[in-house]
Amino acid sequence: MTIPRTIRMHENDNVAIVANTGGLPAGTVFPDGLTLATRVPEGHKVALVDIAEGAPIVRYDVTIGYAQQPIARGTWVEESLVRMPAARGLDDLPKPVRGRAPLAPLEGYTFEGFRNPDGSVGTRNILAISETVQCVSGVVAFAVQRIKQELLPKYPNVDDVVAIEHTYGCGVAIDAPGAEIPIRTLRNIATNPNFGGRAMLVSLGCEKLQPARLFPQGAIPIQGAQQVDTVCLQDAAHVGFGDMIASIMRTAEQHLAELDKRRRETVPAAELVVGVQCGGSDAFSGVTANPAVGFASDLLVRAGAAVMFSETTEVRDGIDQLTARAADDDVAQAMIREMAWYDEYLKRGGVDRSANTTPGNKKGGLANITEKAMGSIIKSGTAPIAGVLAPGEKLRQKGLIYAATPASDFICGTLQLAAGMNLHVFTTGRGTPYGLAAVPVVKVATRDDLARRWHDLMDINAGRIATGDATIADVGWELFHFLLDVASGRKKTWAEHWRLHNALTLFNPAPVT
Ligand code: CA
Repeated sequence: MTIPRTIRMHENDNVAIVANTGGLPAGTVFPDGLTLATRVPEGHKVALVDIAEGAPIVRYDVTIGYAQQPIARGTWVEESLVRMPAARGLDDLPKPVRGRAPLAPLEGYTFEGFRNPDGSVGTRNILAISETVQCVSGVVAFAVQRIKQELLPKYPNVDDVVAIEHTYGCGVAIDAPGAEIPIRTLRNIATNPNFGGRAMLVSLGCEKLQPARLFPQGAIPIQGAQQVDTVCLQDAAHVGFGDMIASIMRTAEQHLAELDKRRRETVPAAELVVGVQCGGSDAFSGVTANPAVGFASDLLVRAGAAVMFSETTEVRDGIDQLTARAADDDVAQAMIREMAWYDEYLKRGGVDRSANTTPGNKKGGLANITEKAMGSIIKSGTAPIAGVLAPGEKLRQKGLIYAATPASDFICGTLQLAAGMNLHVFTTGRGTPYGLAAVPVVKVATRDDLARRWHDLMDINAGRIATGDATIADVGWELFHFLLDVASGRKKTWAEHWRLHNALTLFNPAPVT
């Protein structure tokens, strides 16, 4: 018989979650004497004490809501019993804590990566074909098919050919405030470390997002070589579809020949730029996978690497923790600026941060966005926050960074790609087969059951933390070593193995026309 288990995150918590697969029936007696008055599903909360009507419900030592009615000890604290707290105001937030001892450096860890002319390091060697506008994407997709069949086999050191397809570029208010976000996102993706530093672009000709606007002079600082090789489909020299394809293939082959000369070299782990995010979260996300990612994040920061955490609606409720962790006042102010911008963005759409949670989150035991956010923030570990990026900006520093993005998996991934990530870590509890073509995506399962059923989709099983078979530190170290192996090309993620690639999705807060 399995022993009934609950997981309590903090000694001040008046609820805990049921850890057993399938949940537990009424009448279950825990080793400490707590008896279930009702059935409690897996990952859902049980009251550890009698909670009066209107009293705070506390998890992670944070008030995640207030009791809608009296809740007796041993009862399932079901979502409808939890009234969501108001969002924390953005005034009078805690100041950055001064005089903290920095995390101890972690030395001696390396990986095999592709060094770029700008100093960045790729974990894969990929030809990316940028597009100014959606109009060209069918043609580019056709060309990419032929490049893969006819050209790629001749260049064995190149891993892949990827079209940077998107729906932007025309039919948009390109001078509106906010339009700079999708434009700089596309610009910065073209210089992702996995693409070797030279850009290739296919344009239509009449689109609003002209090549010179996408890549202004100096946008891609490469010595000697032409900055961007552009194929324009409306160019008078193209007579017929076959000519367009031949042009694209000719330009692609020049790039493939250059990329093929690149070789992996040993570089310090400090060259990693890791983007972390979660999707399909459940109550275990904040107990198993996200704390393990947070542990690995601290290891990476200690090794000198950059780690980005994101997902504004999922950190909004913890803004007071984050300003206290900011490295200085400027960083704290930048965090507040990004939160305020997003509050306003949501308000314009007639919603607030509570629009984030999904039916699956709730089924998985997360009552509301406050509870979800507390579990999400843990991914950032304990390091001071060294910097903040606005959506689509390029990262130019090391350490733990808040890269402001929506929580939408595809938009967050796309923006982290633009920031320059060369490895992606993704935690999931409900299960999602998410992957990106441009960067390896390491998926971490929050539950044993998910890791077992999706054994050929999940790379790391953090569910062993809930079952007591591993510690947060065990899984954190395992993830850290796996990241170095994947970065070096010694191991592939399951998403790479099956070639599971989600579409890039631009964040465009500006109007379309
Ligand atoms: Ca997400």
